[in-house]
Amino acid sequence: MSERSYSYSRQEINNDDIRSVTRVLRSDWLTQGPSVERFERDLSSKLRAKHVSVVSSGTAALHLLGLALGWRPGDLVITSPLTFLASANCILYAGATPDFVDIDPHSYTIDIGRLRDRIEEKKKQGKRVKAVVAVDYAGHPCDWKSLRELADRHGFQLVDDACHALGAKLGGDIGYAARFADAAVLSFHPVKHITTGEGGAVLTNDSRLDETLKILRTHGVTKNRAIMEKSDGPWYYEMHDLGFNYRITDLQCALGSSQLKRLDRIVSQRRRVAEYYDRVLSSADVLVTPGVSQEVEHSYHLYPLQVKFESLKVDRKELFERLSKKRINCQVHYIPVHLQPYYRKNYGFKEGDFPEAESFYRREISIPMYPSLGKDDLKYITTSLLESLEVQAFHQKGGKR
Ligand SMILES: *Cc1c(COP(=O)(O)O)cnc(C)c1O
Repeated sequence: MSERSYSYSRQEINNDDIRSVTRVLRSDWLTQGPSVERFERDLSSKLRAKHVSVVSSGTAALHLLGLALGWRPGDLVITSPLTFLASANCILYAGATPDFVDIDPHSYTIDIGRLRDRIEEKKKQGKRVKAVVAVDYAGHPCDWKSLRELADRHGFQLVDDACHALGAKLGGDIGYAARFADAAVLSFHPVKHITTGEGGAVLTNDSRLDETLKILRTHGVTKNRAIMEKSDGPWYYEMHDLGFNYRITDLQCALGSSQLKRLDRIVSQRRRVAEYYDRVLSSADVLVTPGVSQEVEHSYHLYPLQVKFESLKVDRKELFERLSKKRINCQVHYIPVHLQPYYRKNYGFKEGDFPEAESFYRREISIPMYPSLGKDDLKYITTSLLESLEVQAFHQKGGKR
């Protein structure tokens, strides 16, 4: 039996990472230096996006992107209720109005049919949708081809919150995010595929959007002669927009570039963990393993397992307690955003508005998912889970009770 403890996710730091960071510490540039541009170039070539702006967090990336896309009070922006708060909060930062469209129960990403209905319903009320923030939940890309068609037909902006989906592929393409969406957002928080401690990025093929983002991340200040009203000398700069200090440091970017080199291995190890879970857990009637659509190569930021607690004696709280005694600490992703008091009180959402996301929430647990989990760890985790649930599963392929 293993004596290690497990959480739903954890970072992986190696000696190359440490050397990369210490090299920057001894250099002249702790911030605004060459490691920032290098990380942007590395991301750009790995993910086939023409432009990349790295910033201090995924949330900062979403904030700036909403502003750069020109979201204003009165604009309607739609996202999925099954996401981290930041995907929806960025709509509020811009003063725009948030709305949600329920998830598809197979892929757990935004439901295209329901989205089409919602847009048409709004159209009849004389309201136009400004943008859709679609979330590649758990690392499963949305139906981006359909989203692009809808966006072109109705003229809304398309944002990919790809914070879960670094390294995922759609139709074999790792660069689907910048290809289909107007812009995509990444996070480098330690629970994500690669980390910079805190950090985020916006990917886009739109050069003007990227220029705006780079100005907004550093106080709205420009030194670009083509934009400036005049130039008094080499010290001179102008502020044309209200920006922020959302810069990321060279220390962090050096770590990011070092980690990014291992992305392919990280994703294939995560996929191997998922294969094990799929095989062992899918034979238990009370468990639903995550669905994967055709054309999709899932990158498994999370392994969202659904447990039919309604047909068990054990409830989720009890399960969490039993697992925690075995040093396995799971999480739940996510409490649907529209059920947060802030969203209910200020925007009038209520329980029952998005039944698929709500029923998913009631059943979901995120079990440990990270590259360093070995066969023994996985065996310990799945055995402990099944014991705690007081159910059995056949471990061989195709096994049924
Ligand atoms: C992590 C995450 C973010 C925000 O990232 P931070 O870097 O933590 O600010 C946004 N959206 C989703 C879906 C995320 O998982």
